[in-house]
Amino acid sequence: MRVAFLGLGIMGGPMAANLVKAGNEVAVWNRTPGKNIEGARVADSPADAARDAEVVWMCVSDTKAVEAVLFGQQGVESTIGSGAIVVDSSTISPSAELHFAERLRAKGVEYVDAPVTGSKVAAQAGSLIFMVGGDEAVLAKLEPLFQAMGKQVFRMGETSKGQAAKLVMNLQIALIYEGFAEALTLAAKLGVNVDRLLPLIQASMVKSGVVEYKAPFILKRDFTPNFPLRLMLKDIHLALDAAKEARVKLPALETVQDVYEMAAEDGHEDLDYAATLTLLEKWAGVEVKGAA
Ligand code: NAP
Repeated sequence: MRVAFLGLGIMGGPMAANLVKAGNEVAVWNRTPGKNIEGARVADSPADAARDAEVVWMCVSDTKAVEAVLFGQQGVESTIGSGAIVVDSSTISPSAELHFAERLRAKGVEYVDAPVTGSKVAAQAGSLIFMVGGDEAVLAKLEPLFQAMGKQVFRMGETSKGQAAKLVMNLQIALIYEGFAEALTLAAKLGVNVDRLLPLIQASMVKSGVVEYKAPFILKRDFTPNFPLRLMLKDIHLALDAAKEARVKLPALETVQDVYEMAAEDGHEDLDYAATLTLLEKWAGVEVKGAA
């Protein structure tokens, strides 16, 4: 397929590379020049990449970035052909996504929201999980592309329901990680050895994929970003905004939002969200240390 891939960040870079590996004809574009993908054409603008593309796939930071890529100067809207499909793997506001889809549908363009879960490691391995919103017939056409980048696709409903599901997923990741980080902090203060605690957690009903994924990085004190804190904070804001629109109260997430904001103020926003632990450690006057 002829695919335009827009946004070559932590996630987009490996996703685009996997589309090339699967034999697609790929044009790539990134806002800051200098990033490229072996085997892909580097386009000058979103408009240049979208011209002649059957599918335009985006993975950029936030709602504003998606709006700029689609409708800004030299945006996708100016060249995309009727019958083409736009797919958005960024995590953005569900209500804004619906609005973007309506604007493009007026030009005969199909639109699918397909945010991902799985982080950098899964993007590289081609084992992302997609949660999608859109028409079933359109999704069927995208099947080979989903296969090239991921291991599972969950259709959550019509356009924007993928984004809504993504916010619900990240709400849980943020709260589960906060519980883990607070537990590690208290354990350190009470003198419980973290190397003994981890197998206990994973043998019990407390066990979680979040703990399994994050524990090795914490033990190495490696907070280089797999999922940057600033992006998790963006998703917490999106979830709280969506909750406010729906008149739902989320008290634990509101408190976790404060922790992320203070960690960002401490200068950790470009580190992994696991670095919120360091704020708890600072407050408690301890450091979580494994033997590793
Ligand atoms: P990232 O490494 O920060 O990359 C962000 C990308 O968006 C870069 O290509 C950046 O371009 C581009 N961008 C930002 N603002 C833009 C604008 N105004 N116009 C055009 N392009 C713009 O982020 P990422 O980790 O790849 O995440 C991308 C999306 O996937 C986010 O919505 C994130 O929440 C979601 N996500 C991430 C993960 C993860 O584990 N990392 C997991 C699931 C979902 P520049 O290079 O010019 O800055």
